[in-house]
Amino acid sequence: MTRAIYPGSFDPVTNGHLDIMERACHLFDEVIVAVSTNIAKKSTFSVAERMELIQQSTGHLPNLQIDGCDGLIVDYARQVGGQVIIRGLRAVSDFEIELKMALMNKHLNGEVDTVFLMPKAEYMFLNSSLIREIASFGGKISDFVPTQVEECLRRKYNSSK
Ligand code: ADP
Repeated sequence: MTRAIYPGSFDPVTNGHLDIMERACHLFDEVIVAVSTNIAKKSTFSVAERMELIQQSTGHLPNLQIDGCDGLIVDYARQVGGQVIIRGLRAVSDFEIELKMALMNKHLNGEVDTVFLMPKAEYMFLNSSLIREIASFGGKISDFVPTQVEECLRRKYNSSK
């Protein structure tokens, strides 16, 4: 039984994240999406909101679970018996940061391996902050996020006007 952990902030979840989750669910027996609860990183959505949005968008993935995580991801992996860390690789810009992180995680816990997955080409340049920025100016984001996320972002930015 292989259990994989997919960590990130998911603030909010995008179609790029969902693409990676679907690929991971095909490859591994169990996938746990570990939502970072790190309060030092200023987030737009609360952890509960971010987890709820992932939940609402992943009903079609029965082997996926969602959890919060606030410590080192390798410690979390050890705690839940995870053997693999999943990361998404987008444009070249992700590579150096991800390489550094994967090597450090390997050093900290030799039993866990990082597996990189690439999304479809149309999600290659997509990230949550870009989506938040477009949404804050009332732009169209429906090609890049699930409907629930689109509605949630619209409510958030309308109520802050
Ligand atoms: P970011 O790295 O954009 O701040 P997250 O922390 O939520 O976002 O990302 C969690 C993981 O998902 C990271 O490995 C990141 O590279 C990956 N990811 C984010 N957006 C995409 C995307 N559009 N396609 C593939 N992977 C992605």
